[in-house]
Amino acid sequence: MTAPDFFPAGHLVSVLTAQPIDRFLDYKAPAEGCFLGAFVEVPLGPRKVLGVVWGAGQGEFDYAKIRSVIRVVDVPPMRPELRDFLIRAADYTLTPLSAMLRLATRAPGLMDAPSMRVVYRAGTAPQGFKMTSARQKVLDTLADYGGAPFTLSELAQTAGVSTSVIKGMAEQGAVMAQNAPKDMPFAPMDPDFGRKVLTDDQSAAAAQLRDLMATGDFGATLLRGVTGSGKTEVYLEAVADCLQRGKQALVLLPEIALTAEFLTRVRDRFGALPAEWHSGVTMTDRRRIWKMVAQNGAQVVIGARSALFLPFQNLGLIVVDEEHEKSYKQEDGVLYNARDMAVLRAALCKAHVVLASATPSLETWVNASNGKYNRIDLTARYGTAVLPDMRVIDMRAAGLPATRWISDDLVQNMQSRIAQGEQVMLFINRRGYAPVTLCRACGQQIGCDHCDASLVEHRFQNRLMCHQCGETKPIPTECPHCHVADRLAPIGPGVERLAEEAQALFPDAKVSVLSSDLFGSARALKQEINAIAQGDTDIIIGTQLVAKGHNFPNLTLVGVIDADLGLQGSDLRAAERTFQVLRQVAGRAGRSEKKGTALLQTYQPDHPVIRAILSDQEEAFWQAEARARELAGVPPFGRMAGIILSGSNAEQVFGLGQHLARHRTPLDQINAQVFGPAAAPIARVRGRYRVRLLVKADKSTPLQRALHDWTANLKLRGDLRLAIDIDPQSFF
Ligand code: ADP
Ligand code: ZN
Repeated sequence: MTAPDFFPAGHLVSVLTAQPIDRFLDYKAPAEGCFLGAFVEVPLGPRKVLGVVWGAGQGEFDYAKIRSVIRVVDVPPMRPELRDFLIRAADYTLTPLSAMLRLATRAPGLMDAPSMRVVYRAGTAPQGFKMTSARQKVLDTLADYGGAPFTLSELAQTAGVSTSVIKGMAEQGAVMAQNAPKDMPFAPMDPDFGRKVLTDDQSAAAAQLRDLMATGDFGATLLRGVTGSGKTEVYLEAVADCLQRGKQALVLLPEIALTAEFLTRVRDRFGALPAEWHSGVTMTDRRRIWKMVAQNGAQVVIGARSALFLPFQNLGLIVVDEEHEKSYKQEDGVLYNARDMAVLRAALCKAHVVLASATPSLETWVNASNGKYNRIDLTARYGTAVLPDMRVIDMRAAGLPATRWISDDLVQNMQSRIAQGEQVMLFINRRGYAPVTLCRACGQQIGCDHCDASLVEHRFQNRLMCHQCGETKPIPTECPHCHVADRLAPIGPGVERLAEEAQALFPDAKVSVLSSDLFGSARALKQEINAIAQGDTDIIIGTQLVAKGHNFPNLTLVGVIDADLGLQGSDLRAAERTFQVLRQVAGRAGRSEKKGTALLQTYQPDHPVIRAILSDQEEAFWQAEARARELAGVPPFGRMAGIILSGSNAEQVFGLGQHLARHRTPLDQINAQVFGPAAAPIARVRGRYRVRLLVKADKSTPLQRALHDWTANLKLRGDLRLAIDIDPQSFF
């Protein structure tokens, strides 16, 4: 039986709230009745909270005692596909539905009446109205902006007049002052505004996407193209197509630091700024975006993963840019993978989803190979740019002392590039000065007091920092273990130390370090990136951050200091990730006319991943990687879930792990394997011990139900916590 769409006054409705209570609550529909999906204010104990009408009430309690919905909130009801999405996402990630609703209502003041403010528009000048040059400026400004309303200060500023001029005009009716809601629609976007001439390849790709989207049905497409091939230009055409058909589009980016650059690009293409949604957006803007998305007042949203939970009315397209990025996996709170959830969200609202990457995740590559997703390839770089030459530097033969990391071969190449006025980038994925600080007297490392992790020296800040919990302390002069003074020594390189070495080798060069911890704000980082892009630096030293999306036109040489770094460790994605990051870093070289070079320093030149990167046989790499995973029965061919137990008492945490390992009938019933309990690779973080179990099952088994049955009735004593991570990406 399908639920009715409207509940007249007094009928019982079942309401979901974002409060952590694991069930629906019955209320009576208010005097004006309410629609299915309506956002409502309901009493809960002494409080009033926001909820959503989820269906007909269950009627298990005495009708007379049931309270009434206080009122229907003045926003459009939640659409059925968003309710479906929350249910499916909750089931998939084994998260309470209330937590999902919390993600979908993360904007303050949704229950408040729309707040108003005074705006000014053109009016009619009365007979005998005295025109002055200041008054004329005001009228011109209003005309220039096509009748768009202004606040008093905006209008005064834009017209270059004082506010008293405007107030005087308003008294005579030459301009009109009106009350208007504070949350205003976003400026309309013009699909034809900054249209570019596409290359043949690009137009073919854009046309293919357009045809796929024209079906008006769900579809998923892998848009694969080398860095600089114009993937962004192509998917912006798909956005344009949405605009033309009056549909909304969502573009997900992996990194907030990339949004500013991207917003400018969207404005250049469509003539207006899109809505921007991520953790750095102010509360006022959040409320505006949430409401405008719900009222069709925002056509394009650029956002981080949580934008998937916005109340789109009419979503036609979701783009997941750099879809392979690990940052799409939310690693705390609700553990979900935004890439997978984007596909689900698109499927439920019959939208198209474009997964764009130069180095797709193996999951997506497999889905495209077996025809589940469409695949569109862009093979050449735009314009005259060509892909860089790549070669390895065999570090076994480099003969460097233990305190140097830049080989002579790399130095010579740097020299000739810098001499020609070109830029060089050195890549190492380690923040700080040195990853380890060792006492030469007693041989002990300095560790974090709260975590099983080595403290990392950050020389710029003159502190030691724990990369797990973020705690810092001044660099001591004596060893905390043996108290011998002045024998502490940094071991190994981080970006800061590499910068020191590069500066010593090239005393006249300007060296810049790009590392996420060195910039207080996204804006400062952005400024630095801009300065670098304009050529204000000879040598860029960077972490992972530089691998992503930035364009440095004058950069022609990339040196990867330690290509082996990512290959260590037991992560099943180690090979894939190394491949992705090295490919991406190398792709930074030679993005305009000059051909670039990428040099990879390695102790394992014969490692299959290193060879795959050098040979042009990318497809062969994915095939080999897919075969290996299939044989091992791991994702995407099998299913995995991580169970993370934590608590301040090590014995209790292990005890719980052992209890789970022994009592696992629900998992045996689906023939799942259980590994562990084992201490997590970083066994203690912030004073909490961490133990993991890993569950492996066949692809077709109902894993979530088994996991639920296995863990649902556990009583967690004290501060013990259990979290379930479906499709874990990180094994820390
Ligand atoms: P990708 O997303 O594949 O890395 P981009 O879309 O960022 O590639 O394109 C790389 C650069 O080339 C950008 O500066 C972009 O503006 C430019 N570009 C790509 N295609 C065109 C085109 N058809 N016309 C003008 N500029 C283009
Ligand atoms: Zn710590």
